[in-house]
This record gives sequence, C-alpha cells and structure tokens, in this order.
Amino acid sequence: MALEGPIARGRLQGKNAIITGAAGGIGLETSILFAREGASVLMADISNLSLERALAKVKELVPDAPRVEAIRCDISKESEVQAMVESQDSWGGTDVIFNNAGIMHPNDADAIDTPEEVWDLTHNINVKGVWFGSKHAVLSLRRHKKSKGSIINTASVVALVGSATPQLAYTASKGAVLAMTRELAIVHAREGFRFNALCPAPLKYSTPPRTSSQSDKLICDSTPLLQDWLGDDMAKRHRREVHFPTGRFGEAIEQAHAVVFLASDESSFVNGTDFVVDGGMTKAYVTPE
Ligand code: NAD
Repeated sequence: MALEGPIARGRLQGKNAIITGAAGGIGLETSILFAREGASVLMADISNLSLERALAKVKELVPDAPRVEAIRCDISKESEVQAMVESQDSWGGTDVIFNNAGIMHPNDADAIDTPEEVWDLTHNINVKGVWFGSKHAVLSLRRHKKSKGSIINTASVVALVGSATPQLAYTASKGAVLAMTRELAIVHAREGFRFNALCPAPLKYSTPPRTSSQSDKLICDSTPLLQDWLGDDMAKRHRREVHFPTGRFGEAIEQAHAVVFLASDESSFVNGTDFVVDGGMTKAYVTPE
C-alpha cells in the first residue's frame, strides 16, 4: 500500500510520521495535512477496510505525497504497536507519532451504571494504547539517535471540565492521557523529545466510511460519532451547542491544523501543554445569545 512520488516542500518535510486512528475523523484529516506538508506518513487503524479507504483518499487528494502507507494495528496490544513503530525503521525511524485512536463506548455512563468491562476496554485502548505508542516512539527515537521528536496524544476537553452528560470511563481515560503526556514531556525534555496533549471539544464532521465486517462493527458500536448520536434531537443538540461561544461545534480539520503545528519544528518550544482546540468553550461562563 505504498505511494512513491516527488518530495513535497512543506512544514513536515523529511519527517516520518505515524498516525493512529487514521481511518477516523481527526486521524484522516491529519493524514491528509501531514502528507500535504511533506511528511512520510504511516496510517494505522484497527479497521482494515476503513484504513484502505482512508489510504485511497489520501492518495487521491495528495498524489505527490512523498510516502504514504497503511498498517493494521490494535493499539491496546503492545506487540502490534511495537511492530507498527519498528516497521518505520527502514524509513529512517519515526520522528512524529500522533497517538490519536480512542473510543467512547455507548454503554459508558456514570459511577453507578458503567459496566466494568466498558471501563477496562476504554482504558486498554485510550490509556494503554497511548502509553505503548509513546514508549515505542521513544525507543525508536533513541535507536535512530534522533535529537528531536514530537509525540502528540489525543485527550479531550472532558479531561479539563466536568460534564453532566457523563461518560465516566472515557473522561477518566482522557484525564490519564493528559497527566501521562505532561510527565513524559518532563522526563524526555533533555533528549529533545516533545510531548503535547491535544484537547478537542466535541466535533462535527461527516461520518468516515464504515462497513459491516466484524472488526468494523466492534469499532462502530464502540465509537458512535457525536453527530450521528445527536441526530435531529434539537434539545440534546442545544444542550451542548449553547456552551460554545462560537455557537457551533468544531471540525476535524481544525484539530488537524493544530496537530501539524505540534508536529512541526515551529512548535520547538511547546512542550507538556494541554493544547486546547475548542473555540473557547472551556474558557466560557455565559455565552452570547
Ligand atoms: P473516530 O471514531 O472517527 O476515529 C477513531 C479511529 O480509531 C477509528 O477509525 C477506529 O477504527 C480507530 N480505533 C478504535 N480503536 C482502535 C484500536 N484499538 N486500535 C487502533 N485504532 C482504533 O473518532 P475521532 O473523533 O476522529 O476521534 C479521534 C480521537 O479524538 C479519539 O481519541 C477521541 O476520543 C478524541 N476526541 C474526539 C472528539 C469528537 O467529538 N469526535 C472530541 C474530543 C476528543
């Protein structure tokens, strides 16, 4: 699934990047922008078919990308994460990893009603998956004697503010991502390895391609997109939209632009941040009518 072509000039030129959850909303938009900015991109996802479609999309939109490939990886399995990162050894080693894959389970609820297996599944993917990605990125950066590297981990605004529409396992997992990223940033700062956490607010975007295959079904059931779930329930929609000073949900592409900045050398002195991309939502008390 390789794409070879002339080297593009861009903000990520010469960098080898891995993006997990690359078949989803934020991951796919980021893959497209990374390729446009000249990175060599390894797109990773648990869903083979969605991944193939996402790869085809990147190839279609960025025909002159230096190198774009796809690999199936379940980030909750360390051996698979290790194989994913080590597969970039032959590219010259990983410079950037965007640990972005995550789930929000439909049965995730409050302290009383969240099933323990939903808690464990959520934490295995959202927390352990980010740990494994960070660990093997550090090992790769050291193996290739890199003096700089950028690791971006996707958290959420719910790591910063409480929600009266609870998904307790998800919220706790994103809080863990934030704390883990901060500590990794401090531990590895003198090696030149930067760690930042992206905190998106709820997004609006078109549904990525889905299938009815078993693995896709698991993911589909595990990650209902907020917009699908809200449907045309105006009361539910208003309950959330009213908290945005902008009066609208964000778009996946707006997260992807922030990730390009964090991946690039333009952010060389940005480390350990909770990088919030939320249209001002977490800074708002009363929003405009
Ligand atoms: P999405 O569901 O569109 O994409 C997530 C992708 O991750 C999917 O392609 C899925 O197949 C993949 N995935 C799931 N489990 C995996 C696993 N074990 N291994 C590898 N890949 C796996 O979601 P999105 O909105 O693009 O979310 C991306 C990240 O942003 C997630 O971590 C999510 O929690 C976070 N986030 C999303 C929102 C939002 O409103 N969409 C808001 C805040 C944070």
